[in-house]
Amino acid sequence: MATIFYSEENLKFLLQEVHNIEEIFSRNYFSDYNSESMNIILDTAKNIASGMMYPYFSEMDKNPPEYTGSTIRVHSSVKPFLEKFAEGGWINASFPSDIGGQQMPFILFNACMFIFASANYSMSVYPGLTSGALALIYQFATRELYQIFAPSMIAGKWQGTMALTEPEAGSSLTDVKTMATPTNKGYYLIKGQKTFISAGDHDAVENIVHLMLARIKDAPAGVKGLSLFIVPKYRPDENGKLIFNDVNCTGCYHKMGYKGAPIAQLSMGEADDCRGYLVGEPNKGLSYMFHMMNEARINVGLGAAAIAGAAYQTSLEYAKERRQGRKITEKNPSVPQIPIIQHADIKRMLLKQKAIVEGSLSLIIQTGKLVDLINTSTGEEKEKCELFLEMLTPIVKTYPAEMGVVSTSLAIQCLGGYGYSSEFPVEQYMRDSRIHPIHEGTTGIQGMDLLGRKVTMKNGAAAKVYMTEIYKTIALAKQYPSLISYAEDLDKAAALWQEVTGFLIQFAIKGDIERFLADATLFLEFSSLICIAWQWLLQGIAVQNSINNSSGSYSKDFLEGKMHTLAYFFRYELTGIYALEKSIRGSDGLTVSMQENYFED
Ligand SMILES: Cc1cc2nc3c(=O)[nH]c(=O)nc-3n(C[C@H](O)[C@H](O)[C@H](O)COP(=O)(O)OP(=O)(O)OC[C@H]3O[C@@H](n4cnc5c(N)ncnc54)[C@H](O)[C@@H]3O)c2cc1C
Repeated sequence: MATIFYSEENLKFLLQEVHNIEEIFSRNYFSDYNSESMNIILDTAKNIASGMMYPYFSEMDKNPPEYTGSTIRVHSSVKPFLEKFAEGGWINASFPSDIGGQQMPFILFNACMFIFASANYSMSVYPGLTSGALALIYQFATRELYQIFAPSMIAGKWQGTMALTEPEAGSSLTDVKTMATPTNKGYYLIKGQKTFISAGDHDAVENIVHLMLARIKDAPAGVKGLSLFIVPKYRPDENGKLIFNDVNCTGCYHKMGYKGAPIAQLSMGEADDCRGYLVGEPNKGLSYMFHMMNEARINVGLGAAAIAGAAYQTSLEYAKERRQGRKITEKNPSVPQIPIIQHADIKRMLLKQKAIVEGSLSLIIQTGKLVDLINTSTGEEKEKCELFLEMLTPIVKTYPAEMGVVSTSLAIQCLGGYGYSSEFPVEQYMRDSRIHPIHEGTTGIQGMDLLGRKVTMKNGAAAKVYMTEIYKTIALAKQYPSLISYAEDLDKAAALWQEVTGFLIQFAIKGDIERFLADATLFLEFSSLICIAWQWLLQGIAVQNSINNSSGSYSKDFLEGKMHTLAYFFRYELTGIYALEKSIRGSDGLTVSMQENYFED
């Protein structure tokens, strides 16, 4: 098994040289942070990842969660990990210091999450979910509810979850049926079912705190009638004693990958005694969830890039060691075989993985920085950053997710037959990565979000902010002789993006919404290639600056490798936009006009 699961040099290069993390440290709110403390934090994260997470990566896969009849038994390493993780203050690290947090910038926290997820994605999900649930309680619940639930969550003793999905309400949250009946005792009575709830019940914690969407009796139909509730498995009585709250774990699904974390089926209110505590105002549940959605979707992209990155490192290490065949020009069989990394096709597969992983990670860091800028700015700057983030969110969720599957498949290919065998770790990476195009809104839903909501948002204001940033990068890149041709390619691609967008919007203007959104997934892929090319151009600028400054912080090989991968992305990947453009323009609504009965044999 590989000993390296991420590149420290790359992570620091992206944080410091490409995305100028110092700009975030210079904000008053983050004044406790600087590059020295950043290095210490990244080292601590690495130690946790290598000591407590990576050793269980394969073991957790081979010993998946099991339903016991009332709860889900998970791997014995989860409990001590959660306790240690909490002890280190990681669960509430990004919270304000006056409530016990460390005010850690999101950009830095996410860099640490990337390290954790690279080491063991399943393990990283447990505390990540608690942090997300905690953030919702902190932002929208009363102080009283925060006092009841937060301390044990911060201590890693209680698990947080996000409970939205129901058997009949997956992509369509409009159809959520779980009911909340008001009482005059300060709580609602919850009745319904949830499915696929990550870490929704397990035996590594004392209690589970669900942040659950439900419909208050007589609330409007659709998403406008959804409210957010805290629904614990056990509720504390007035003396703090935990009483079963009628949240029944009725089973768990057995997943193809990401097996270390369970997904629970839940049934609430079988004995009419499930209490839910309203968070914020009635009927605003989805808007509260949406508030967290950008960050949650960045986290999905992050998980996907982390898994693909670890698979890349494994295949890279293998390709350096595995000897097979000879140079194409060498006909003498007595000459020793060469390491497969010397074959052009293996280099192509490694380059593609590197381009996907490092391009994705760059976009993840860019969006993490935007979250920090939004949280520490006001007025026009805040609004601009918000629009920018809205535009990037479906891309930062989907590109790493979809391409992570491609990338991990290439890692398998580099290992040949060994890659296909469970004695080697890369097949697990591919299985683990397959969840990402599905959860937190499927790729289909993200495509419609980008084209149907984000592009048209505020009369195209978000798209304008995004394009302005891309053109800024192009103008800057044109000042470096070695980047001019890439800047010109991106210039052409950006113009094409506007043309294609204009072409599709015509259908919306004519009221043909079905046709407008029919190829939204293709449009998302088309947009993503341009967006990641922009991230690679930003990296190219940072490489040129590093060479010019000759500070010696980065090795020559590292910088050359970056330039080669930039070239790869523009020559092999960005060119895909021209085929996609042809399909989008020429599809003539083929998928809309296809009739169900035509699928019959
Ligand atoms: C491992 C795992 C962990 C999960 N964790 C959680 C969790 O913690 N909390 C939680 O609440 N949920 C969770 N989920 C649920 C997850 O969010 C849903 O599976 C997802 O939203 C899709 O819903 P669905 O499975 O019902 O699929 P469906 O909604 O039935 O979708 C099936 C297919 O139809 C497509 N489709 C659906 N509607 C449309 C449409 N209008 N237009 C075009 N295409 C459409 C989809 O893109 C998809 O390809 C998890 C799921 C898994 C597998």
